Amino acid sequence: MANHLYDLLRSRTPDKARTFAEMLDGRRYSYSDVDDVSGRFANSLVELGVKPGDRVAAQVEKSIEAIMLYLGAIRAGAVFLPLNTAYTPAEIEYFVGDAEPRVFVCDPAKAEALRPIADKAGARLETLGVWKSPDVSAGTLADRSLAAATGFDTVPRAADDLGAILYTSGTTGRSKGAMLTHDNLASNAATLADYWRFTPDDVLIHALPIFHTHGLFVATNTVLVAGASMIFLHRFDPDKIFEVMPRATAMMGVPTFYTRLLQDPRLTRQATAHMRLFISGSAPLLAETHREWQGRTGHPILERYGMTETGMNTSNPYDGDRIAGTVGFPLPGVEIRIADPESGAPLGTDEIGMIEVRGPNVFKGYWRMPEKTAAEFRPDGFFISGDLGKIDARGYVHIVGRGKDLIITGGYNVYPKEVESEIDAIDGVVESAVIGLAHPDFGEGVTAVVVKSDQASLTEKEVLGRLETRLAKFKLPKQVIFVEDLPRNTMGKVQKNVLRDAYGALYSQVPRP
Ligand code: AMP
Repeated sequence: MANHLYDLLRSRTPDKARTFAEMLDGRRYSYSDVDDVSGRFANSLVELGVKPGDRVAAQVEKSIEAIMLYLGAIRAGAVFLPLNTAYTPAEIEYFVGDAEPRVFVCDPAKAEALRPIADKAGARLETLGVWKSPDVSAGTLADRSLAAATGFDTVPRAADDLGAILYTSGTTGRSKGAMLTHDNLASNAATLADYWRFTPDDVLIHALPIFHTHGLFVATNTVLVAGASMIFLHRFDPDKIFEVMPRATAMMGVPTFYTRLLQDPRLTRQATAHMRLFISGSAPLLAETHREWQGRTGHPILERYGMTETGMNTSNPYDGDRIAGTVGFPLPGVEIRIADPESGAPLGTDEIGMIEVRGPNVFKGYWRMPEKTAAEFRPDGFFISGDLGKIDARGYVHIVGRGKDLIITGGYNVYPKEVESEIDAIDGVVESAVIGLAHPDFGEGVTAVVVKSDQASLTEKEVLGRLETRLAKFKLPKQVIFVEDLPRNTMGKVQKNVLRDAYGALYSQVPRP
């Protein structure tokens, strides 16, 4: 038997001498280095007692060696468990206690704080930091891997065996460990490489974090399976993006990358002339950003939609119209339907309901949560995504928001996205978030949190005046709150739960009529 994921990832490289990753410190990893260094990490993990099916958890800074650790874990038959670098020790205690990894790899600077947590969970603690120079240790696992052999007999794993557990980002409740199989990851990587036409001549700008499905799987696996290469940046930095764009062909980013680059006068047609593809996802891209980007560069951003539990589900087309404000068509092999959130009955064209997904990309379930898993699947195998949306007459999928963000006011359903789109269209508004807050009279009160541009002198009255002519009365915000910025997580998602907590008591003083 073969190793389902690793074999696929390494099946198409035409020439092992070609570059897989280039770093701005001058280092370069060829595809033979990928085999050799992931082999060193696999040997190191086996030395540390890792057996097939064991979890290997990592809370490490972004580095190419961390990618080799991921590949080494896959080759050793282990289940890779990346953790957000922003998690505090208290949060790590929950994840490590829940997942019970055999080995927990952390940044050298955090080893002292995290050792008791690893010990308590029975995990072996190792460290991996960012490479500085040949004479400076990058951590105990880095040293161990340098001493290990490059050759490794990759452990056989079947399509249905686990390759990774990714904890959901938890913007709506407690994080759950999504169990992803070898085939979930392999099938999605192969589909994306083909759909987005990646070839060995592609050079991807990789500026995303690698603890999340976007940077780890969508970006890295797609490059690997295509035998392409990437310019591996430590983080998103406009100076570096402009520096490398003349030799790159593609970029994957969250919407914030695009809005930040649009603020830069260096963004021109000429600066992006060598690029063939800009992809956005993980949070909604404003239609305005799509239009402005196309105006400035000539490139229509390709927006796609996915989630930790499913990998990628839909994408705007490579050829054909990339429509702003939509997330495109279901990917080949992926089924999407819109269903009544309560009964699960399928809905028709343009009707808003729950987005449900079925396909080889859909995860196996939540780690050690069989009831939670059962509650989120329909009997016919569709996963209830938690996102509300619709499919239009041309087959494009539209997302209107998370189910949890739906506002029920006086018995009426209000989809925040509809109100946000109207507010965003007002001159002087940068962006907005519409939330429901407990209201003594209406159950929930529609509330708009608005960011206006520096020059704008917009008032609540003006916003409401404009909306009155556009929206039914029950959809109008009961209050408009102006703020400097909306709270976002590292993937650029607006954290509505933070807003709900901050303004939760807003209507508690409202007297009953
Ligand atoms: P995560 O599991 O962190 O990848 O978050 C997945 C969620 O991000 C989805 O369920 C959607 O709510 C949201 N999301 C991802 N891509 C998009 C997109 N292109 N437009 C709107 N929301 C998106």
